[in-house]
Amino acid sequence: MRIAVYPGSFDPIHYGHLDIIERASVLYDKLVVAVATNPKKKPLFDTQERIELLKMVLKDFDNVYIESFEGLTVNYALKQGAQVVVRGLRAITDFENEFVFALTNKKLEPRVETIYLMTRSEYSFISSSGVKEVAYYGGNISDMVPSIVADKLHQKYDDALK
Ligand code: ADP
Repeated sequence: MRIAVYPGSFDPIHYGHLDIIERASVLYDKLVVAVATNPKKKPLFDTQERIELLKMVLKDFDNVYIESFEGLTVNYALKQGAQVVVRGLRAITDFENEFVFALTNKKLEPRVETIYLMTRSEYSFISSSGVKEVAYYGGNISDMVPSIVADKLHQKYDDALK
């Protein structure tokens, strides 16, 4: 069975992520979307909230599973029985970080391949931090995230202002 892990912060999931998940789910028998819990980062949505949003958005994918993990991605991939770590690439700026990420993974665990899917041009500008910034100032994020995510974001910021 071909198993892949797609790790990320997903704070929150947006259309760029969703496109990578759709395409990877066709390439592999099983895709594990893995929410990274990094104690050094302060996400807007806690791990449970990010998982719940992913579950709602991805409910129609039969071979996509959602989990959280802490620690090295390659160790987690091995634990899942995955041969592949999938990542998305937007721009040159992503490339530098991803290049280091892929080479480090290979050094740590030669049995795991890190594979890149190029963003679709219409999603290349989307990032979770960009989405949060636009939502914070009340802008329209309907082309960036599914409506359920947009609702949760607006709710978060409305609650914060109360
Ligand atoms: P973000 O950078 O949006 O905060 P994450 O840290 O959750 O996202 O990223 C998880 C993975 O998804 C990374 O490999 C990242 O490069 C990829 N990714 C993020 N946004 C996009 C996009 N718009 N198109 C394609 N891949 C993306």
